[in-house]
Amino acid sequence: MPDDEVERILVVVAHPDDADFGAAGTIASWTNAGIEVTLLCCTHGEQGAQPDADIAAIPALREGEQRAASAELGVTDVRFLDGFRDGWLEPSFDLQREIVRVIREVRPQRVLTQSPERWYERLMASHPDHLAAGEATVRACYPAAENPFAWPELGLDFWKVGEIWLMAHPTADHPIDTTEFFDRKVAALRRHASQTGHRADLEDMLLVFGQSIAERFGLPAGTTAEAYGIVPVNRR
Ligand SMILES: [Zn+2]
Repeated sequence: MPDDEVERILVVVAHPDDADFGAAGTIASWTNAGIEVTLLCCTHGEQGAQPDADIAAIPALREGEQRAASAELGVTDVRFLDGFRDGWLEPSFDLQREIVRVIREVRPQRVLTQSPERWYERLMASHPDHLAAGEATVRACYPAAENPFAWPELGLDFWKVGEIWLMAHPTADHPIDTTEFFDRKVAALRRHASQTGHRADLEDMLLVFGQSIAERFGLPAGTTAEAYGIVPVNRR
């Protein structure tokens, strides 16, 4: 689906910072093209704290960091689900229902989420919560969101998602050249200070990571990229 057929995109991830590590450059390219992007985090990432952190303060801290990071990418509609515990995410019917609710509210042509399939070569990208968020989102896109008899109690019209983009997918075959937006990716990730503040090498790490993806897909030397598996659902 070409970007000019896309008006709205919904990004669904398990934790604050997931969308920015995996897709900040791509998201910035979309908002730069005038596409509205909504971010939905399924948890507040309260297990992602340094050992000396005040654990009770983490959810609000990470929500604030995510809102600031998304603002760096031109995303102002940032939503959090309540009631789903970091580290315990499952593709439950409760989670599917809440994602269906947001799909039917946002009415996105494209949904970006985390791969439900584990990528053994990069196990940290396949955190169990990521697999759960991806699985629940794929199930929410098809068949639930588009079936008027699924979750009628939400009181929202059904919606057909056009396609799903999967981050950290083991057989990703769709690279996006994000070189132009690399600085914004770095800026977004610096906003997640509770996660990245201790990393003096953050920019270098992101550069090496982005360049390795570009190299894998034969893009010119020096470029950076992010890569996806794309699943057609309802294309025109
Ligand atoms: Zn995560």
